Order: sequence, then structure tokens, then C-alpha cells
Amino acid sequence: MIKISVLGSTGSIGTQVLDVCKRIKDHISVIALGAQNNADLLIKQINEFKPKYACIGNGALYDYVKENIPEDTKLVSDEEGFLTLTEIEADKIIISIAGFPGFFPTLRAIELRKTVCLASKEVLVAGGHIVTEYAKKYNVPILPIDSEHSAIFQCLQGNDKREIKKLILTASGGAFRDKSIEELSKVTYKEALNHPTWKMGKKVTIDSATLMNKGLEIIEAKWLFGVEADQIDVLLHRESIIHSMVEFKDRAVIAQLGRADMRVPIQYSLLYPHRIENGLESLDLRAFGSLNFGYIDYKKFPCLKIAFEVLKEGGNIPCIMNAADDACVKLFMEEKIGFLDIPRIIEENISSYTKTKAPSINELINLDKEVKAKIYEKYNY
Ligand code: MG
Repeated sequence: MIKISVLGSTGSIGTQVLDVCKRIKDHISVIALGAQNNADLLIKQINEFKPKYACIGNGALYDYVKENIPEDTKLVSDEEGFLTLTEIEADKIIISIAGFPGFFPTLRAIELRKTVCLASKEVLVAGGHIVTEYAKKYNVPILPIDSEHSAIFQCLQGNDKREIKKLILTASGGAFRDKSIEELSKVTYKEALNHPTWKMGKKVTIDSATLMNKGLEIIEAKWLFGVEADQIDVLLHRESIIHSMVEFKDRAVIAQLGRADMRVPIQYSLLYPHRIENGLESLDLRAFGSLNFGYIDYKKFPCLKIAFEVLKEGGNIPCIMNAADDACVKLFMEEKIGFLDIPRIIEENISSYTKTKAPSINELINLDKEVKAKIYEKYNY
């Protein structure tokens, strides 16, 4: 029985983690659940899974949650509460809280030598240098939940990382893959939320429409697999069936395939290296007939190009890109900026800073706040 602690249990990934736990309930025991603000769903989950511990990030909701859960669940709150959820007797810590609140729990879990299943992109994008150094120091594995990285991780099993020639990340192209630049200038956030192949949270769906999601993922890939920018390639693949591939030095290419269902990479991270029956639908390639591949149009989707440059720069620059993107997605969803303003504002912010090498966590947290505040002020948000 693997004991897990789920930090961010009410989001898109968190709810799917719990669905997987129900499917393989003889193997996984949920001993802690934590959520930032969604008290009602957290209460429902606590009553269903009866974890020993729970955390509500927003301390103002503590009493409300406390009144509605069984007495044997120990409830904690605020940022320290999330740290508590990593310190209990869990074997694996699932980090699926959005943004910087995921940072300290990730580091704490590593210090305590607990396996981290990582879904939060910001942790690696902004602070990859810190997290990977920690993981190396304490010899703790970081298991990726993101489908592309899980695919690469699976392709690497039994192979030597030093023999990688190239990582090939696939991209569906997002909601606007067939639109012209002219059309892109008029698209709305509601259209952006129509992802062609995946059902995901709003932020990542908008990021998929700009291709910034793939931009964040190439940076994640650098840190998870220790490769350089010129060893990462992005391939347009409309059906989202091949989740990513690895080309080795001998030119052999290994791919991982499956239906576009996050529960598969989630389960792999929970049970790694084992695979067991889960009752999910099988992939039937006959139903697709053919799979399509193509080039990314960097003129239409400059965010990915920006991300490649940012990946080469490193230091504080990925944190600035990540913060600016986060702010831009919020502004776009409030209809305060247009779709094509997103890459423009991100680039503008990146070029307004000078590069610093290896920033500390506190420097990153402050930088994140500063960049967002500057953008919100400029666009009256
Ligand atoms: Mg992904």
C-alpha cells in the first residue's frame, strides 16, 4: 500500500489523481488532502476519502471546513499547513497546487526524502535549478505527471540519459492551430478554452492556445532530463496520441502512445515502476486511421519561440516569462487584452530586466510578484 498526500486535490489534476486512487484502491491510500480555496469540494473529498490530515490554504475558510468534516481528520491551514502535509507519514507527495505555493512543499518533501510526483509547472520553470539541485543532493526522484514528460520518462526506462540525442515533445497546436494571424487578433478567451484533444484547467488550456504551455514544458524538460535547448524539438501532432518521443544517438526513436487521458501518466507516477489494470478505455488506432505531424508556425505562435530563447538564457528570465504569462492569461480572460497582446507583453517584460544567475527562492517569489503587479497596474486590473 502506497500512502499519498495530495497537495492541490480540487484542481483539474488533483481530482483526476483521486479518480485514479479509486480505480486502484487496493494499492493507494490517500492519507492527506490539501486545497487552496475550493472548500466545498475539499469537504466532499475529505468525507469520501477520510484522510488522516487535510489542509485548507485559505485560512479564512478553516472554521467552515472544520465544521463539515469528520473529527478524526486533523485539519491545518495556510502555507505552513501545506508543509505539514509533506511531513506526515506519506510515501509520495503529489504537488498539483498552482504557482509558488507548490515550491516550499516540494523542497520540504525532497529534504525528507519522499518521492515527489510533480504536476505544478512553475516549480520547475522558475526554480528548476533549485529543485533539481535539491533532488540530487538528497537523492530523491521527481516523477513527472505532465503527459509529455511522463512519456519521455517512460521512453527512457532501461536507457541511458547520456545517450539521448533529442527529446521530441508533441504539441496538439491548441484551439487556434488552424487560424490565420488576422483571425488570431480577434479570438476570445471562450474560443481559447475549446481545446481540440485534452480536457484541462483553464490556465493550461489558454496556454495551449498560445503554445506557451509547450514553452513551459520545454523548460520543464530541460530540468527533468538534464538536456540543453538544442536537444529539444517540438513536433505538431494534431491527435495527441503520441505523447512525446526520445531519439537516441543511434537514431532509434522510442515513442509513448495512449488516449489523451491524464489518468494514465498520473497512475504511472503513483505506482512507478509498476503498471496495473485500471479499467480505462484502450487506445484503438484503427479509429484514427492516420496520425498527422507538421511544423509549428512560430510567426503565428511566438510564445514558443520566446520560451526557447528564455530556456537558453536561464537565471531569473524563466521566472519573468512565467509570471508575465500568468498575468497575461488573467487579463485575457477578463477581456482586458487581446490574444496577440499576450506574447507582446511577455516579451516587453523580459527585455525590461537584466539577467541574474541562479536566483534564490525568495528572490524568485519577489520577482514573480513584482512582474505581475507591474502588468496589472498597466492594464488597470
Ligand atoms: Mg502537457
